[in-house]
Amino acid sequence: MNELVKLGEKTYVIKSPVNVGIYILANNNVCLIDTGNSKDSAKIIAKILEEHNWHLQYIINTHSHADHIGGNKYLQDKYNCRIFASLIESYFINEPILEPSLLYGSVPPKDLHTHLLLAKPSVCENIENMDIDGIKAINLEGHAKGLIGIVTSDNVCFVGDAYTSSKILNKYAIQYTFDVAKFLSTLNYLKTTSYKYYVPSHGEIESDIQSTIDANYNNMLEIENNVINLIGVGIKYTDLLNKLAVSYHINLNMMQLYVVGTTIKSILTKLESEGKIELSTQDGDLFIKII
Ligand SMILES: [Zn+2]
Repeated sequence: MNELVKLGEKTYVIKSPVNVGIYILANNNVCLIDTGNSKDSAKIIAKILEEHNWHLQYIINTHSHADHIGGNKYLQDKYNCRIFASLIESYFINEPILEPSLLYGSVPPKDLHTHLLLAKPSVCENIENMDIDGIKAINLEGHAKGLIGIVTSDNVCFVGDAYTSSKILNKYAIQYTFDVAKFLSTLNYLKTTSYKYYVPSHGEIESDIQSTIDANYNNMLEIENNVINLIGVGIKYTDLLNKLAVSYHINLNMMQLYVVGTTIKSILTKLESEGKIELSTQDGDLFIKII
């Protein structure tokens, strides 16, 4: 837990349930990549920084999900650091209520005000205004609308939630995915890259990611095929979601209803854009028909 691993001359990772990157800048200043899921993770990060006499100058968030920005406020208050993310994710980091609002599609009810979905606000800027020597951002959209990867001068790529480890996929097959079509193209893109190390936010650091990428790709295609099979001659969205929840052993509580629902609805949008299904309404529900 919370082991500091050196991946290059200037690149480190704090290994934890949400891996946090550290990149060393001039004069013992550092840039963090994500801040973990809470104030507690921020305190652990701050302790590691102090032990190494590092001063926090910048934070880059791969995206705005609460488990990646949960330590932002504590660290920004303590170090007065600047925070960067892609423009669209920066809106969510400045106004975290947008996260559960996007899931729910309206002002979110109290069960969606959990710290798992709602972080404390911090002041975040567009990464296009960032000019940090030795760091560049790459577009890895799909899991989140504005997900970025961060590549350091040590040829290390922090991929955020662009993919997850096979071990986690085996346990939680239906991961939150905002745009399934873009998620799949991002996986194809990552397969063409050859960084020295890849650091996913959840899972193991790897040099060869081909089999992990394949596992993520095939898992999503399998969900999509299951969706197509369940549609049959036509199905209401709620029935489709329930049947998927049963076959994947998912308890559709308030959070999962919207998290899993996002991925399934995104698959429906993809299938509609490919001309495979038709979406309409029936009895106050979305109705799906194979074309
Ligand atoms: Zn995420």
